[in-house]
Amino acid sequence: MAAETHLFLCLQDNYGVLVHDKGSGATAAIDAPEAAPIEAALSKTGWKLSDILVTHHHGDHTGGIGELKRRHRCRVVAPRHEAQRIPDVDETVREGDTVAVGTLSARVLETPGHTAGHIAYWFGADRLAFVGDTLFSIGCGRVIEGTPEMMWQSLLKLRNLPGDTEIYCGHEYTMANIRFAQTIEPNNRALAARAAEAAAQVAARKPTIPTTIDAEKAANPFLRADLPDLAAAVSMAGKGAAQVFTEIRARKNRF
Ligand SMILES: [Zn+2]
Repeated sequence: MAAETHLFLCLQDNYGVLVHDKGSGATAAIDAPEAAPIEAALSKTGWKLSDILVTHHHGDHTGGIGELKRRHRCRVVAPRHEAQRIPDVDETVREGDTVAVGTLSARVLETPGHTAGHIAYWFGADRLAFVGDTLFSIGCGRVIEGTPEMMWQSLLKLRNLPGDTEIYCGHEYTMANIRFAQTIEPNNRALAARAAEAAAQVAARKPTIPTTIDAEKAANPFLRADLPDLAAAVSMAGKGAAQVFTEIRARKNRF
């Protein structure tokens, strides 16, 4: 039975998303930025919350957990390495663990860098990945607790997922990310096409996600740090990918 998803905005620019298994009726919220929009999404879909799958400990991903847990008695799954900073955790997971949502199955991928214990949930059979604040459409998360090298390795792990995997990230940052990416690769045609597509989506008040791994590989400079053309574009021809990534990430911080 294929997974169904429902995406909605929370807080300022966070995304909430529900993953539903029609067969069993199980429904997981990926992160819980705040309770009210998640309750509204549950009402709209008629789905019943069974699980919350947490990607990392930041308050804009965990603020709604307590209220939702009290009301729905749902299971809270969180990354082992930062579970002590997340409320009401029932189960901790690490690299390679499997998380079931009804009959759906997710593999846990550790993607440290934004936070030290950040994880992603990859539903391989359903071609879905929930990547929190590690990978964004045409961008990546700020490196807060890890090192740029660590973040680059985490992004490579996501880049290795099948190309048609749909990527759900934690924030609507696409237009700002595109403006930055165009300073790095002004002649990238896939990026120009993505800019036009995203502008149309925003004008129509539609989300710019999910994206796909293939789309990101073509246009996201942070996934392209090991390409000679990109190194040359930032005057770092011949330098290692992690060094190039570090430079691009530093430029984005100043942008
Ligand atoms: Zn975060």
